[in-house]
Amino acid sequence: MSTVTGTTPAERVTDELETEAVLELDHVSKVYPGETPVLALDEASFTVCRGELVAIVGPSGSGKSTLLHVMGTLDRPTTGAMRIVGHDVATMSDRDLAALRATRIGFVFQQFFLAEHTSALENVADGMLYSGVRRNERMAAAAAALKRVGLEHRGHHRPPQLSGGERQRVAIARALVGNPDIVLADEPTGNLDSTSGAAILDLLLELNADGATIVIITHNHEMAEQLPRRIEVLDGRIVTDVRTPPAGATARPATAGKPDISEGRLS
Ligand code: ADP
Repeated sequence: MSTVTGTTPAERVTDELETEAVLELDHVSKVYPGETPVLALDEASFTVCRGELVAIVGPSGSGKSTLLHVMGTLDRPTTGAMRIVGHDVATMSDRDLAALRATRIGFVFQQFFLAEHTSALENVADGMLYSGVRRNERMAAAAAALKRVGLEHRGHHRPPQLSGGERQRVAIARALVGNPDIVLADEPTGNLDSTSGAAILDLLLELNADGATIVIITHNHEMAEQLPRRIEVLDGRIVTDVRTPPAGATARPATAGKPDISEGRLS
């Protein structure tokens, strides 16, 4: 990624896009109340910039789902700030938050969550249901999104007629169809055999190379290692945040040259 400010207008636009913060967590903590309150997130801070592909990795119980809920605006932090493209979720009404979620964030889940009785095309078009776009335009966008994931020939199939890998492609197309600022993928290969899982990971890498900003939540270190940036969470704390260095360079923390709050190795 470039950190040098461009001199021509086109270069400046490119630089701004490349460093624009899409998702920012600033000392986010989450406590689940109860007889024994649980501190599920403990002062988590990191920034995801436009165009990044990030793995959030950690064992069961480390706080990944809690982080997904907070990043996806499905839950609010107990303390700390969470911003999506500059919008602070703490200051937004539930209604505005729902609108922000529907237009700015795409979700991909381990279990796909597709409607079984409608076609792949309709499932993808449903990703724009709350966008105010008319049905015929939604269907055209859905066809384009299915093409993007290599499934243009399966548009009229229903999910039960598709393989697991194909279903996840439909779910990814649904997440992308409204052109969200960020896609959050929760264990996207968790329900797939290793070959289909590898193909889905390749697809996510391709979509990122085409410009999509993607965060993958996983307990799978092997998968995380294949991604350019890895944020490791343990007991609700961010303990590692590193980027794979370009060939020939030495490893560096994800913060180098970025408006990032976290540090490379925090433990
Ligand atoms: P992961 O997704 O990495 O398995 P979670 O975010 O689900 O981790 O859980 C983090 C911690 O918060 C765990 O100790 C878990 O038991 C606890 N936790 C999660 N959800 C709740 C809840 N609704 N109420 C109380 N504790 C919870």
